[in-house]
Amino acid sequence: MTNNPKRYAVLGAGPMGLMCAMELLKHGHPVDLYERDDRIGGMSATFDFDGMEIERFYHFICKPDQPLFDLLDELGIRDKLRWTDTKMGFFYNGKLYRWGTPLSLLAFDGLGIVDKFRYGLHAMYAKSIKDWRALDKIRATEWIRKWIGQRAYDVLWRSLFELKLFEYSDQISAAWIGTRIKRVALSRRNLMQETMGYLEGGSATLLRKMEAFILGHGGRIHLKAGIDQVLTRDGRVDGILVGGERRECDVVLSTAPIQYVPRLVPNMPPAFAERIAAIRNIPVACVILKLRQPLTENFWMNINDASIEIPGVIEYSNLNRVGPSILYAPFYMPKTHPKWAHGNDALIEEVIGYLPKLNPAFHPDWIMARHCHRYDFAQAVCPPGFNDMLPPMKTPVEGLYMADTSYYYPEDRSISESVAVGKKLVNVALEIRA
Ligand SMILES: Cc1cc2nc3c(=O)[nH]c(=O)nc-3n(C[C@H](O)[C@H](O)[C@H](O)COP(=O)(O)OP(=O)(O)OC[C@H]3O[C@@H](n4cnc5c(N)ncnc54)[C@H](O)[C@@H]3O)c2cc1C
Repeated sequence: MTNNPKRYAVLGAGPMGLMCAMELLKHGHPVDLYERDDRIGGMSATFDFDGMEIERFYHFICKPDQPLFDLLDELGIRDKLRWTDTKMGFFYNGKLYRWGTPLSLLAFDGLGIVDKFRYGLHAMYAKSIKDWRALDKIRATEWIRKWIGQRAYDVLWRSLFELKLFEYSDQISAAWIGTRIKRVALSRRNLMQETMGYLEGGSATLLRKMEAFILGHGGRIHLKAGIDQVLTRDGRVDGILVGGERRECDVVLSTAPIQYVPRLVPNMPPAFAERIAAIRNIPVACVILKLRQPLTENFWMNINDASIEIPGVIEYSNLNRVGPSILYAPFYMPKTHPKWAHGNDALIEEVIGYLPKLNPAFHPDWIMARHCHRYDFAQAVCPPGFNDMLPPMKTPVEGLYMADTSYYYPEDRSISESVAVGKKLVNVALEIRA
């Protein structure tokens, strides 16, 4: 135990908050972890789906997810990591194509040979990029069009941008899209075979081990205990309010979406609060269906079809063969989108209406259970120059530090990145040079 008498509070028990608590405990600091929800996990949490424990949102692991693998080693659960040779599909103009290999690209009849060659070349180039600084300065739509041409952009990318980013489609950094292409492109056994990972028992296997580590090292986890306010005196943290009750603490590490931070600290300097407000986010409403039989053989299916208003579906059970077929269909949409106001039942019905298009044999009798889960801050919007937009993790309030999923930039949203950013946040708070 260190001589440092400071009391640490971590806000949020998603993977990042759990990682922060673990790291603080390893450095000998007492930790209280506060979570608003009734369970740990945040976006990675599981729920009871008609008798089956499953994640609220799908989670796959890719070969480059090194920070996650290091954590699995540390917790002694690397043996729970499983890899599946997955298949990918592309539903284009009413027809389902195989996707994701050079042969499937050659067989695709929606593009000419030159466009296909340019598309393949672009994917290979993205796979090789190590320094993203130049791409942080340009727009993704411009970058992709330059590489593959307008026609291939319209066929392969336009609907993904428009149904995931809406009015922000043309304002996204090329670095942010490039890292996504690279992460998936590197998750392969060979050129012909994509391989995706999952944890036996799902993300809950990792979350439970992290929880056990924290409790085993004297940390405390408080559920249904949202932090309502960070109290300050003379510009520094002077405690927190939880359920109207004051609790002593000197340092707060917030891992909730940073947009919450100015609401928690009413006297946050306005210039800093404005920097936070400039970071935009897109919510998700994710429909989950349990089906008696698989819809397709694909894990992932991208969609570009005028009659379908979702960018794709994920048939999770083609990755992790959990039993019945589990299908996720995410509606990413800004809250300004009229569909956000639709009830969950309407979104579920919309997805069910799409399924006969994806597989004409589908019958509504296949549906065993249905659910829709929403998350307000599901996806940060990262325009060119995003690196410079991100406020520092050390806030102007002494003792208050913050990070969230936007600090993965330019990397893709993943549990692995939460682990890496959680460690970084602790290093900043403890002034440790990594
Ligand atoms: C649709 C979807 C698909 C995804 N797919 C994948 C995937 O395939 N692979 C992958 O690795 N990752 C995936 N992710 C991303 C992954 O789930 C996240 O990166 C990760 O869970 C983020 O963890 P976090 O701890 O950083 O944040 P969060 O999970 O957002 O956790 C923040 C926590 O803070 C809590 N909180 C908020 N306010 C307060 C307060 N005032 N007091 C106390 N607690 C508070 C929240 O309740 C929440 O639990 C996906 C996410 C979504 C939404």
